[in-house]
Amino acid sequence: MRVVVADGSAPPIDKACGEGLMPDSIAALAQLGVSLDGVPSAEFHGIRFVERGKVAEAKFPDGVGRGVRRTVLHPLLLEHAERAGVSFRWRTVVRSVEGDRLAMPGAEVRARWIVGADGHQSRVRRWAGLEAGKLSSQRIGLRQHFAVQPWSSFVEVYWCDKGQAYVTPVAHDEICVAFLAREKFSSVAEALAHFPELASRLAGVAASDTPRGAVSLVKQLRSVARGQVALIGDASGSVDAITGEGMAIGFRQAVALAEAMVAGDLSRYQAAHRQIGQLPRFMSQGMLMMDRQRLVRRQVLRALTRKPALFARMMQVHVGHVPLRLLGETGLLRLGAGLLTA
Ligand SMILES: Cc1cc2nc3c(=O)[nH]c(=O)nc-3n(C[C@H](O)[C@H](O)[C@H](O)COP(=O)(O)OP(=O)(O)OC[C@H]3O[C@@H](n4cnc5c(N)ncnc54)[C@H](O)[C@@H]3O)c2cc1C
Repeated sequence: MRVVVADGSAPPIDKACGEGLMPDSIAALAQLGVSLDGVPSAEFHGIRFVERGKVAEAKFPDGVGRGVRRTVLHPLLLEHAERAGVSFRWRTVVRSVEGDRLAMPGAEVRARWIVGADGHQSRVRRWAGLEAGKLSSQRIGLRQHFAVQPWSSFVEVYWCDKGQAYVTPVAHDEICVAFLAREKFSSVAEALAHFPELASRLAGVAASDTPRGAVSLVKQLRSVARGQVALIGDASGSVDAITGEGMAIGFRQAVALAEAMVAGDLSRYQAAHRQIGQLPRFMSQGMLMMDRQRLVRRQVLRALTRKPALFARMMQVHVGHVPLRLLGETGLLRLGAGLLTA
């Protein structure tokens, strides 16, 4: 296929993001033929939850995660796409899609397939009549990098009543902090004030760029393809950013969409898309329940602190090491009971 990508921005495209790639995200990238070997980044070995002196952590069952700055990841993906023969039109906003025609400044392109990879506010989704679906959560993200040597080889998630701050190492001398909350923080200083343990870690540490904001939505569409148009990534629905799975979902969808196109049947993509979203949606619901209900969160944190094996089991599920379906209802009930009875 001849592929043309039009994007309103220009590389390297930055984005407010936690910049963590879990081991399963790295595996999904590898499936696309992209390796992170030798790429400026930092490894992490698990997830740590922190709230008011309580600390619970679990290592990944297999492999490592990596924090990679979006401005590093984007050129890497571009290089790979260019090698595969993709051509790019930067600073080119697509103005309309009608049938097999796309209008962009100075050109009209006819295409066999049209892929809307245009994020949360997707216009391709609107033009294709694919808006129907459910928005069940909307939170606001704020990201800031700090020039400091990572103090932990875990991604740390700090919790409070307002939301979370999570810290991802992205280089030997830099970390990325992403805040997620139901209400907008007016500044990084205001956000940090809600996370005293993190604030004390960062006292006197210099920010290494300007802060950037973005929304985090939990959105599920009824359909992600119609006619010759398919949606992918955040344009096709999303889970809460706290799962750290947003990019992996997009990578997996890319593989499934390519297979469906080769088969000439986008209904295959629709089915694969639903299946890819199942586990991240489940995890997203659980994390948001902890976010909204303080008593649940405190109980879960207590349980995870007292029973590290429980956290390890949840981590196995989160990174796809133990498939959700294998856990079954009994396994899920056992996990739930373990969390409630610690
Ligand atoms: C605070 C926060 C933290 C996160 N942390 C993580 C994390 O740690 N790990 C993880 O895996 N995921 C994380 N995510 C999720 C992840 O960032 C997203 O899932 C991912 O970036 C979605 O990629 P995308 O390509 O679908 O959309 P986007 O990255 O939004 O890209 C859309 C592109 O479409 C272009 N565009 C839009 N409209 C047009 C148009 N009309 N014409 C041409 N171009 C157009 C834009 O310029 C943009 O380049 C986080 C998200 C947030 C908000």
